[in-house]
Amino acid sequence: MAKFREFAEICEILGKENSKKEKARLIGEFLRGLSPAEGKIASYLFLAHFPAGRRIFLSWSTLIDVLGEMFPLTPWQLQEIGAESVDVGEIVEGIYQRWNRYKSSGFSIEQVYEKLEELSVQGGKGASKKRKTILKGLLVGMDGLEAKYLAKTIVGEMRIGVQEGMVLEGLAYAVGLPLEDIRKGFLLFGDIGETVETFLGKGREALLNLSLKPFRPIQPMLAQMAYSIKEVFEEMEGEVALEFKYDGARVQIHKQGEEVRIFSRHLNDLTDAFPEIVEKVRKNIKGDAIIEGEVVAMKEGKFLPFQDILRRVTRRKEVGKMRGKVPLELFLFDCLYSAGESLIDKSYEERWRKLEEIAGGIPLAERRIVSSVEEGERFFKLALQAKAEGVMAKALKGVYTPGSRGKLWLKVKKSSTLDLVIIAGEWGYGRRHNWISDYHLACWDRERKELLMIGKTFKGLTDEEFQEMTERLLSLKIREEGKVVYVKPEVVVEVAFNDIQKSPRYRCGYALRLARIIRIRDDKKPEEADDIQTVEQIFNSQQANL
Ligand code: AMP
Repeated sequence: MAKFREFAEICEILGKENSKKEKARLIGEFLRGLSPAEGKIASYLFLAHFPAGRRIFLSWSTLIDVLGEMFPLTPWQLQEIGAESVDVGEIVEGIYQRWNRYKSSGFSIEQVYEKLEELSVQGGKGASKKRKTILKGLLVGMDGLEAKYLAKTIVGEMRIGVQEGMVLEGLAYAVGLPLEDIRKGFLLFGDIGETVETFLGKGREALLNLSLKPFRPIQPMLAQMAYSIKEVFEEMEGEVALEFKYDGARVQIHKQGEEVRIFSRHLNDLTDAFPEIVEKVRKNIKGDAIIEGEVVAMKEGKFLPFQDILRRVTRRKEVGKMRGKVPLELFLFDCLYSAGESLIDKSYEERWRKLEEIAGGIPLAERRIVSSVEEGERFFKLALQAKAEGVMAKALKGVYTPGSRGKLWLKVKKSSTLDLVIIAGEWGYGRRHNWISDYHLACWDRERKELLMIGKTFKGLTDEEFQEMTERLLSLKIREEGKVVYVKPEVVVEVAFNDIQKSPRYRCGYALRLARIIRIRDDKKPEEADDIQTVEQIFNSQQANL
């Protein structure tokens, strides 16, 4: 039986190792010495991750309270210790060392995990006291190193530089199989722990069981972003299927007999949040199936904002009340399994046909097969008029690729725009070498009266406009550094983009994706450009983190 102490030791080594390859090897060596059940647990612990989106409801302050009961520490001292480091594990280890607690518990990783599971299900009245008792039961029997990694698991931040991919690589090493096979298994099992357990237990034979099964959700296929319908036709040849891209929650619905379960994009179980969808599926879908679609909130034929669906999910306990307030509609767009047969290796066309066959009265996504840019653009307009977010373009011959963001699905979204100020530009290369063409774009932090850079673009202007802009920026030049020309912030441009991402690249913490200038706003003064609050609003509205 593997000890939790051994797990803590390997984590300590992993945290100090820089080479990813070596890390994966170390994980592999460790997994190799474990039983399949232990391997499953170890993989969850490495990632401080619990299956099916469960969380441990423990805060740093609960941990501090328990430590306060165990050690002669005043709250003030605890706070002081807490301020010394950002790593919870190190803080805890420091406390143990100060009081010379060097005796190891001898807990096995299974024993610790069982207690963590108990912690994760304690909710409701008196839960906080129970949780503290469980936690204390673990901590009093541990030495500093064990307590360090227990604390890290509990707060969900291991800080040992181990990601899912690395565990999979370690697993490949442990069982001597190609990484691609392990990855394929992971995409189908959908869960890291199950993947590790199955491969450790069955080795190569695990591959034989790699078929889809109801109630074992798989990683959803994802789409790449395209600028425009024109770009879609550059990527995909001949005919293309375009579907409305609904702004809701993606669901993977599993049905076997009368039982129905609904999983989110991140494979969390949402069944309880959407009882009317469960009923609808039970009533309509013919036979056992795994289907995908988008749940949207709709009232009187109009789409409601995505936030409304989020409310349905976060306020699950009041599902009765919320049902009336936020009515839901489901639009189906894929079928991965039907009547005992996996369809993921079949083409999009075949899967759609099957979906039509089994959907009963449930609507499918609005769709059109188009064969020219003009036809596609007309459908795109139609989608926007219907208040969809844009369209999804799907290759007719494309198979379903779980978990991957390939080119068989492309999303074309309605772009958003911001009015931004040009604060600098860069001398171009090649054909653009005479022009200042890559513009640094900034929005306002109005409180500090400061401009914050949020992106760069050289897209959108005609040759003539580049020429004029170069002259204009040179007349506003403050200084030049290398190829960058800094200018007085006077020119406002309207910039279209497809997404805002969180990004450490710029000080404001965000970056625009696929930005391009659509207009020079000479009618606007720099003070009238958009601010960081607007950026944050757009960012928040595009988050669909279920
Ligand atoms: P995004 O979240 O911007 O990466 O876009 C992909 C998401 O669009 C999917 O995960 C689905 O939730 C959603 N979506 C809406 N309509 C469709 C559709 N017809 N086909 C596929 N995905 C869709």
